[in-house]
Amino acid sequence: MLPWRKLRRVGLHFCPNCDHFWTEESLWCQVCENMFRKQTLKSQTLECGPLKYLIDWPPHTRLGRTWSLYLRLLKYNRNPRAWEYLAHVFLAAASDHPEPDESTVFIPAPSHVLRDHAYYFAEALARHSGGQFAPSVFRLLDSNPQKEKNSRQRKERAFEQIRAVPAANTLIFVDDVVSTGSTSKAAHQCLGQPSNFQIWALAHRRLSCDAVRALI
Ligand SMILES: [Zn+2]
Repeated sequence: MLPWRKLRRVGLHFCPNCDHFWTEESLWCQVCENMFRKQTLKSQTLECGPLKYLIDWPPHTRLGRTWSLYLRLLKYNRNPRAWEYLAHVFLAAASDHPEPDESTVFIPAPSHVLRDHAYYFAEALARHSGGQFAPSVFRLLDSNPQKEKNSRQRKERAFEQIRAVPAANTLIFVDDVVSTGSTSKAAHQCLGQPSNFQIWALAHRRLSCDAVRALI
């Protein structure tokens, strides 16, 4: 068991950036939380629509290791309050962009469990922006993955829309981390390739050259 997990069992937590104890719901210590709040929103264009994200996660750097540890803490704690905090920070950073309204629909990335990080994040983004929350895309059980040529093809076939999506000016697909974009592409296809599709993610993880080559 990792040392920080042992410490967590007795109620002690470390900031993923500076190793000080933290007590904030953000999972940062107070000093690092003040720095984190200054993150600006970044944009990139993916095949299926524009991507907006808060954390630029480069590989093989100290900053990348900090983000890696932070995302692990978020996943390990499965803490809706932390995602509530992150939704606030994201929406504050997005204030210069066209604001979501009641005709904006937030769709969480599907997972193997009923509620996970993307679910909490999308739900909080919808609640605090006045938009609608619509968990409409679900993950199918892959009955015969060996027949697919690679993991990307498996992912593209792995989703199903089982609930109608409310009429919307903008559909926002919400995920915790976007790397290759294959999950959002699969969701876009599953929803019938709508033209008003966007992707919002906490982090964009850039892959190393080796990892990209392995995917091609
Ligand atoms: Zn800190």
